[in-house]
Amino acid sequence: MITAVLPTYARIDLEFERGEGCWLVTTDGRRFLDFTAGIAVNVLGHAHPHLVKALEGQAEKLWHISNIFRIPGGERLAERLCAATFADTMFFTNSGAEALECAIKMARKYHFANGDAEKNQIIAFKGAFHGRTLATIAAGGNPAYLEGFEPNMPGFTHVPFGDIEAVCAAITPRTGAILLEPVQGEGGVRVHPEGFLKQLRALCDEKGLLLVLDEVQCGVGRTGRLFAHEWEGITPDIMAVAKGIGGGFPMGACLATEKAAKGMTLGTHGSTYGGNPLAMAVGNAVLDVILKDEFLAHVNAVSTHLRARLEKLVADHPAIVAEVRGKGLLLGLKLNVPVGEMITQLRGEGLLAPAASDNVMRLLPPLVVSIEEADIAVDKIETVCRRLEAAGAVVQGGAE
Ligand SMILES: *Cc1c(COP(=O)(O)O)cnc(C)c1O
Repeated sequence: MITAVLPTYARIDLEFERGEGCWLVTTDGRRFLDFTAGIAVNVLGHAHPHLVKALEGQAEKLWHISNIFRIPGGERLAERLCAATFADTMFFTNSGAEALECAIKMARKYHFANGDAEKNQIIAFKGAFHGRTLATIAAGGNPAYLEGFEPNMPGFTHVPFGDIEAVCAAITPRTGAILLEPVQGEGGVRVHPEGFLKQLRALCDEKGLLLVLDEVQCGVGRTGRLFAHEWEGITPDIMAVAKGIGGGFPMGACLATEKAAKGMTLGTHGSTYGGNPLAMAVGNAVLDVILKDEFLAHVNAVSTHLRARLEKLVADHPAIVAEVRGKGLLLGLKLNVPVGEMITQLRGEGLLAPAASDNVMRLLPPLVVSIEEADIAVDKIETVCRRLEAAGAVVQGGAE
């Protein structure tokens, strides 16, 4: 018999009752170190006092009104995000996929507004993940997510990851934009070759294309800069953001330059919930913490420490761990044993970490994680490495 909740997830049989910082506590009192953070969402950990206060304070006043009215909290959040980024304007959504939907619509509409309606094709990358709506599964191009949901939304071409020649070769007179994650998350925590974003920026400028970044997973401090593209000193035309931006409250945003947003005039887009007062109160509270000078310094300090320890794991346990990937606290371990086996055993040790494609285990702690907590996590991984070595359970590749 079908479960009351649509069975699209193979759910781990743990019931959590509450969270405290980087820790989750089950109904029967077991504590787990949370290096999943709701898939890079809980940037300030669980039950952060500043977020709780903001949510409670707003909950007593006003939850929802509709975008037919002014929402001062949203105006404030947008102004603050504009001041902190390349953006001149933004649209608030409830999720990452919706932020991408807005980005895709905006890119198409930009060329339409310029009288180039045929420039509605977008170049995206193999291994990408952009969400699970019809447009975003087409943008991601993962056959497993497309199968059976045909007809596929047209308008996307996919080129190999990090291949600038392939991008150049794929550009046609109908190309309007290039869409990518600065660091691929679900695709296996893959970082582009150094200088790749710069090359894409130059290409877009030369050909009159829009550079659209998906920073849903890698943004909001995750890589050690407010947004990952800042590492390469470039700015996009359009950027989709979600996950960390709400710290656990469902929200997202599509940020853009004034130029890129030129087609998005009165009545061209909308959302009932997007940017409602409750979400905006939490979003502002997340920014209060993230925009403090010491915040990103902390992310980089913990990341440097964690990464060094993970590199040592690779050196000490090459039969188990092949490679460290990623940037900041968006880290991945490419494994020589099946990632599912590693993750299950780590759960037994009290560490929660999610998988990605390519037999990679992701380490996505809350960005407030301490050096001590990072050490606890690595110690647990090392314990499992030793056990797997002792068991001789060295299987190449394997299940995800
Ligand atoms: C999670 C994710 C999305 C989709 O976000 P949802 O909130 O699940 O719709 C899009 N792009 C990237 C890079 C993501 O990691």
